[in-house]
Amino acid sequence: MNYKIGVISGDGIGPEIVSEAKKVLNRVADLYGHTFQYEEILMGGASIDACGVPLTDEAIEAAKASDAVLMGSIGGDTTTSPWYKLPPNLRPEAGLLKIRKALNLFANLRPAYLYEELKGACPIKDELIGEGFDMVIMRELTGGLYFGARETKEVEGIMTVRDTLTYNENEIRRIAVKGFDIATKRRKKVTSVDKANVLDSSRLWRKVVEEVAKDYPDVTYEHMLVDNCAMQLVKNPGQFDVILTENMFGDILSDEASMITGSIGMLSSASLNDTRFGLYEPSHGSAPDIAGKDMANPIATILSAAMMLRFSFDLDKEADAMEDAVKQVLKDGYRTADIYSDGTAKVGCSRMGDLIRERIL
Ligand code: NAD
Repeated sequence: MNYKIGVISGDGIGPEIVSEAKKVLNRVADLYGHTFQYEEILMGGASIDACGVPLTDEAIEAAKASDAVLMGSIGGDTTTSPWYKLPPNLRPEAGLLKIRKALNLFANLRPAYLYEELKGACPIKDELIGEGFDMVIMRELTGGLYFGARETKEVEGIMTVRDTLTYNENEIRRIAVKGFDIATKRRKKVTSVDKANVLDSSRLWRKVVEEVAKDYPDVTYEHMLVDNCAMQLVKNPGQFDVILTENMFGDILSDEASMITGSIGMLSSASLNDTRFGLYEPSHGSAPDIAGKDMANPIATILSAAMMLRFSFDLDKEADAMEDAVKQVLKDGYRTADIYSDGTAKVGCSRMGDLIRERIL
């Protein structure tokens, strides 16, 4: 099959890690008989330098014309880069918010998986980790508290603020459907996280999730309060398969889940809309401190590309091949600097890409 992939290399380590992901994708294309056609799209600092804005309308059109978008990361050093002297709506990160909105990317998917070989980096005690964990967090990305009306004003001489958390049932239903759909491809368990003992928005969330669950009889589901979920993640992370939750709870819980894997350079993510389209990117930033030094870990980007094959192109076998190659390279003892430990072989970004490419079967 022929697929058109929009590529946002971005800033900092972005171009280095994306180039490694393309190396691996090209090997998959050769072995499995596909053609991946790449179109470079400017966003972030690179776009500010070339076009004066972090994302142009042409760039949005190019993304829309692609089957999916693979991204590195955008942004620079926030204290020294001239990009951060610009007004907030012209800074690199404004491009990301704009593209999410333009493409209606309302569902954010972040896996948290503990590799046996990296167990030592997990901050949780061995007896609590047990057999390890393998979960995804499905977070609503375009509604809730971060997008509601807000105001700051003085009331009778006292500074007073108001943020509002708004959801309608359609917004909840579409993310719940995404969560249950993903569960059918996994271990078929959804944990819906809310604060239904306090919030009206959570009570509606719970009601809609229960309605959606009726369409998925082979998926088991449970409700969990967000405070309990935060505790369970560090007490018994192995219990989770798909965590389904609203925007702010998901923001916090997905960072907590990332932390317990022990390495930011390994974590992929996908932002999806209600078509097969998605924007796939590592969970980390542009790491300006190591940019251009061939030190970055490209694995999160390679795993993001694997997710793109699985969720946007339905190429499960090919995605498995990429994920298995990453597992094999770790088993064989190769590590980039961020995940290095005594007794393993330290390699740079480009060599890590080569080693993974060679292990695609
Ligand atoms: P960061 O994730 O870029 O870096 C944090 C630390 O992790 C650094 O020490 C860095 O060297 C290390 N690190 C990150 N990715 C790594 C990798 N693949 N391999 C090895 N080490 C890695 O976070 P930050 O320093 O807070 O942000 C830097 C820039 O990235 C900022 O401009 C920020 O706004 C931007 N950012 C962009 C995105 C995105 O593009 N979606 C996300 C987060 C941050």
